[in-house]
Amino acid sequence: MDMLSIIEHKRDKKELAKEEIEFFVNGYTSGSIPDYQASSLIMAIYLNGMTKKETANFTIAMANSGDLLDLSDISDIIVDKHSTGGVGDKITIILMPIIASLGIPVAKTSGRGLGFTGGTADKLESIPGYRVDLPIKEFKQNVKEIGISLITTTQNIAPADKKIYALRDTTSCVSNIGLIASSIMSKKIALGANKLVIDVTCGNGAFMKTVTDATKLAKEMIEIGKHAGLEVRCVLTNMDEPVGKAVGNQLEIVESIKALQGNMEQDVYDVVCSLGEQIVIMAGKAKTEKEAKALIDDAINSGKAFNKFKDLVVRQGGDISYIEDISKFENAEFIVPVVAKKSGNIVNMKTEEIGKIACFLGAGRETKDDKIDMQAGIVFNKKINDKVKKGETLCYIHTNDKEKVDEAVNRMQKAITILNLNKVELETILKVIK
Ligand code: URA
Repeated sequence: MDMLSIIEHKRDKKELAKEEIEFFVNGYTSGSIPDYQASSLIMAIYLNGMTKKETANFTIAMANSGDLLDLSDISDIIVDKHSTGGVGDKITIILMPIIASLGIPVAKTSGRGLGFTGGTADKLESIPGYRVDLPIKEFKQNVKEIGISLITTTQNIAPADKKIYALRDTTSCVSNIGLIASSIMSKKIALGANKLVIDVTCGNGAFMKTVTDATKLAKEMIEIGKHAGLEVRCVLTNMDEPVGKAVGNQLEIVESIKALQGNMEQDVYDVVCSLGEQIVIMAGKAKTEKEAKALIDDAINSGKAFNKFKDLVVRQGGDISYIEDISKFENAEFIVPVVAKKSGNIVNMKTEEIGKIACFLGAGRETKDDKIDMQAGIVFNKKINDKVKKGETLCYIHTNDKEKVDEAVNRMQKAITILNLNKVELETILKVIK
């Protein structure tokens, strides 16, 4: 077998055999296939797509390229949650302690932010002392003893995906449904859960811009899961505006703490409940969504979920005094209001641009090695369908870099559209696909 004939097959729209896919995935991971041949094949896949069989084989080959975690000694049912990415997405930080407080084990790894979407691992690191890099042994021990651990994927998990994703990112080949589905599912399969709920974000701040594409992606991931013995359910959620009010690492942690104390924004609550209901049902703790929601509400209102979050922070080395008193988090040096230039109704937010502005302020990385400013970001005062008066504050910009303030304020004003229109249609939960 040789790489040239594999490229030719895909270029000519033929279905690749399992062995051809494995030859490519293993060869590229080990370094025997060069970037130029790999990028040619990936572009051919991007343009011509993959059949269901190819997508499943591609996923399994990437999952098998590194370690496969075995979590079966923790429990028969291990539930995982994933998001396809968005702006202000702090759902994992709020939802997973709720789930753990209901006696469902949570062994979760999360990524770091790159590009306009943030990463849960970076957000958790804004809690002084919190370690996201626990060794697998300690990670599993924490799940056994307190029912939860949240770490990052620094381990040797699906290394093929890491390399192929970086190549896709630098050759404009990210937004292909088969490639995204196999990338996500390869990591999830390697991580050892047997039930998975995926938040498939949809809108102008997500990879999937339309419900049609988000539905296709969801169905592909469910199908791949079936091949791998992993039960998958997907919730399509709206990403036409940031989730909740804060965008930026420490700002989102503070919002998450308030949420766990019962002070949750409505859209955050809707996403938490919708994903949580599916997890609780899959874990066998409730039969209906109504029953599951009652358990989730009780976990929040009784303080059980917040206490579980505190247990988690202590176990991961974090300074609990910050969780008990959020005023200990120091704010950025410059907090500047962005005001409305006219009166009306907020009808649109350019969510991807808002994510990019947060990165520009210091909240994210433009390259892999950039250092994050944990205090930087944006806090919204108004969101879509809120009425505003000229001169009223739309949001606050937080940064430690004075030079960036004027440009960020300007860009934010352009990212928010105010018109004299009545309410626009905006459903938070678009669909549940099983
Ligand atoms: N998230 C992933 O892990 N992979 C993709 O391809 C896109 C989003």
